[in-house]
Amino acid sequence: MAPGTLELIRSTIRDVPDFPNPGILFKDITPVLANPTLLAQTIDGMIEATGITQVDKVVGIDARGFIFGALIAERLGAGFIPVRKKGKLPWQTRGIDYALEYGTNSVEMHLDAIASGETVLLADDLLATGGTAGAALHLIEQAGGKLLGSTFFIELSFLGGREKIAASGPVHALITY
Ligand code: AMP
Repeated sequence: MAPGTLELIRSTIRDVPDFPNPGILFKDITPVLANPTLLAQTIDGMIEATGITQVDKVVGIDARGFIFGALIAERLGAGFIPVRKKGKLPWQTRGIDYALEYGTNSVEMHLDAIASGETVLLADDLLATGGTAGAALHLIEQAGGKLLGSTFFIELSFLGGREKIAASGPVHALITY
């Protein structure tokens, strides 16, 4: 990646205080998505960080992970697999509940999305506590997928998500706070 590109991407991410709840500093990535050059550089960077050139399936997490995951999959010539919030997928699913700061959440993946032994890359917009990515990684494991790694646009390193999911495989992030 050209010198200065990462800095430009970083400065284009918009901080929105107190969204969606008081005390949360929301990282708004839509200005990066809206810029065709920065969008392409971000996707390239998220792939480059992994060192992966060949993979069977890219798994993206509802909802912003669909944007990054699908673009990465297309670039790598891989299939794209959505992990969705409970109740959204039409076919037979495998699901998992995971803890949030307050309460729980559930995500699901189609039973036939990943064949046993297929190589998999996980992609999402942001790694915070790692709860969401950890749940997706469990679903990939249960399907028999061979995880090559996880790639995030943004990592909030002070929330410790990397430590939570590191045992599953290599963790990469383009922009770290
Ligand atoms: P977590 O399960 O805590 O790692 O949260 C990850 C998901 O929550 C990501 O897919 C993000 O879309 C979203 N998220 C959490 N914190 C933030 C934040 N500060 N800014 C933007 N999105 C966030």
